[in-house]
Amino acid sequence: MTAAPLVEIDAQIPAEPAAEKRSLAGLTRARLKEALAAGGVPEKQLNMRVNQLWSWIYVRGITRFEDMTDVSKDLRRQLDAIYTLDRPEIISEQISVDGTRKWLLRLAKRGHEARPPEVETVYIPESDRGTLCISSQVGCTLTCSFCHTGTQRLVRNLEAQEIVGQIMLARDRIGDWPGAKGPDDGRLLPASERKITNVVLMGMGEPLYNFDNVKAAMEVASDGDGLALSKRRITLSTSGVVPEIPRWGEEADTMLAISLHATNDALRDELVPINRKYPIAELMQACRDYPGLSNARRITFEYVMLKGVNDSLAEARALVKLLAGIPAKINLIPFNPWPNTRYECSDWETIERFAEVVNRAGYASPVRTPRGRDILAACGQLRSESLRLSASERRSGAEKA
Ligand code: SAH
Ligand code: SF4
Repeated sequence: MTAAPLVEIDAQIPAEPAAEKRSLAGLTRARLKEALAAGGVPEKQLNMRVNQLWSWIYVRGITRFEDMTDVSKDLRRQLDAIYTLDRPEIISEQISVDGTRKWLLRLAKRGHEARPPEVETVYIPESDRGTLCISSQVGCTLTCSFCHTGTQRLVRNLEAQEIVGQIMLARDRIGDWPGAKGPDDGRLLPASERKITNVVLMGMGEPLYNFDNVKAAMEVASDGDGLALSKRRITLSTSGVVPEIPRWGEEADTMLAISLHATNDALRDELVPINRKYPIAELMQACRDYPGLSNARRITFEYVMLKGVNDSLAEARALVKLLAGIPAKINLIPFNPWPNTRYECSDWETIERFAEVVNRAGYASPVRTPRGRDILAACGQLRSESLRLSASERRSGAEKA
């Protein structure tokens, strides 16, 4: 063996790997301003430039600096040299027979992480709305016994940029940006024509355990000069992190959903173990006190139907009683099974009888139809590591489109 090949290989490795370009897509106004300042934009121009870029990024959804036609060519080149407008990387896209789409995303690796973390985002089209279900954490620290995400350890919180990035890439993939390339050559898509009309924080993770990042992300999502999603159409779902509920209401003011699933503490302790820390009575009080609660702004109570566990008629009556006096909606979720779970979904007749009790108490059509079951995209089935599919399996999923 000679030393020559080694020398050649060494010569190809730069002494210092080039720093990776950071993306500006998904940043808050404050972060965007910092980034522009660091990119050489003079102090006097900063606010004006932030507003220009904000509109290009969040109203138009553009992905190239060169398309920012009202920004000087020099500045566009300058920004392009150090930044990108990239979204989180898509590893796979699966499309269900019912139109539901699920994306597995790869996030940037942090210093201590062995490999890049992965999360999932799901888009659910319905006749009158399009709902995007986004993740707030990689995995979850909580261990709800019926939830697949709960079997995956917490890897990390998502940054605000990564949370907003999920909305942006979903809009890219389903063609949900206005078609125009520049300020004068096309119309803006009216809000009524938008495909993603609602966002639910019901993907992976407990959003109230990543409070600051989720809040910052929802501020970007609801900014009227940008993505412009109404806070009435954003719903945060929590397993019941009681101390954070009033704070969320005061500071972020979105709609709220509570993963209730049981009407007594003994059973809820088992199903949703955070109940041992914050029992049902405390949770209900936090709901009664939720700011802005009214008949027009109700809390959604989620109740997963588990065969022989929480699905008796006595429990249906107990549920109605528990919610008395709280402006509430009830969502009965058929349990979505996952490999090796010890639970089964209640029979349809049982669900119907349970729903009837709830209906009679004045709660309309409460059963949530499972969507995207064929691609394991339904509630509680998201668990990135175990869902990695082979290339051929992914292809067959895409063919169903
Ligand atoms: N961590 C938050 C939000 C994510 S879970 C929370 O727990 O609320 C979104 C909803 O799906 C919750 O109501 C959750 O309890 C429910 N869920 C979890 N696993 C499920 C499963 N296998 N079948 C049906 N619903 C499930
Ligand atoms: Fe975490 Fe929610 Fe799953 Fe419970 S139901 S383990 S809180 S993601």
